[in-house]
Amino acid sequence: MKHLIPYLQDDQKAADYLRQVRWPDGVTCPRCGSDAVESRERCDNGLQRFSCVPCAGRLGQQFAICTDWTSSIFEESKLRPLEWLLVMGLWQLKLNATDIAAAADIQERTAQRCINLLDGGIYETYHLDPTRQLEHQVEADECYQSAGSKGLPREVERREREPRQRGLQLRGRATAELGRPPLLGLVQRRDKTDQDAPAAQVYLEVLENVRTATIKPIITAKVKGGAQFFTDEYNIYHFTEADYDHRTVNHGAGEYARRDPDGTCVHCNTMEGLWSGLRNFLDHFRGISQRFLHLRVARYEFLHNHGHLHWRQVCEAALRCIFSTTGDYWRRMAHQHRRMPLTLCYR
Ligand SMILES: [Zn+2]
Repeated sequence: MKHLIPYLQDDQKAADYLRQVRWPDGVTCPRCGSDAVESRERCDNGLQRFSCVPCAGRLGQQFAICTDWTSSIFEESKLRPLEWLLVMGLWQLKLNATDIAAAADIQERTAQRCINLLDGGIYETYHLDPTRQLEHQVEADECYQSAGSKGLPREVERREREPRQRGLQLRGRATAELGRPPLLGLVQRRDKTDQDAPAAQVYLEVLENVRTATIKPIITAKVKGGAQFFTDEYNIYHFTEADYDHRTVNHGAGEYARRDPDGTCVHCNTMEGLWSGLRNFLDHFRGISQRFLHLRVARYEFLHNHGHLHWRQVCEAALRCIFSTTGDYWRRMAHQHRRMPLTLCYR
């Protein structure tokens, strides 16, 4: 977080830094996009006010005021710019709400809302970005994450069932309904011949179940046709033979990696390693509600995929994502009991 220290001196410095990240080429009006904006006096919390000339003309007013945060995720927040910047740095350290609240000296409820907003912003922009695709050598695997209805007793009541038993060992293929939603992981292996290649790029999706019908639209949308596609011998992946160079390792027969005659290493070890990283990360949250699991997973995905960059670059990449949305996703989700169905994302 050292790179943030110069901006954490007061609210004005923090607001100036956030503005610079939001508008690197100069401020434009968040409503009409015009760059004909005049600076006005600052707000009490250090945010800069602007007046947009075209908007004022259109409305027939003397001024049309907006601030650094108009039409952004931060707009309705009562936190000050300095607090938001601090939370942002702590968010990047993969901390949970309790730790962020303690470190930033804010209420735990507020910290919870902050990380949901930030994770939701990343989910909505980075995770759902349809142009982000994997290619070349892609491994696929699934894992299961225990997640109940933590913090939502209303929902447990509404569904007229017993609260989930903790530590329950389920055999076979679990589903979201059983309290163990499956995760699909797709990872593009890092190009080891290229020194400057980015980290292995991963795509993680929380599923309702692991049927071919569920995973097929995701794989088709996220993996470029013609890629080499590595999985275990689980039959839900058989459909990929049509579009990909599909190769399997037979875990059941004790085979975990092999070199094919053409020199290709067939294994899913990159994805296996990522699962243990993800488990470590999710363990910090001490039990996650199914409602929020996909948001935490999106944060892990984002931070992992930017892992080869400097802290400052990651922070600014995250802020650019977050400033590119108004936080609609999170606001809509906040009124629902369950997470948004995947069908809204893959049409
Ligand atoms: Zn305007």
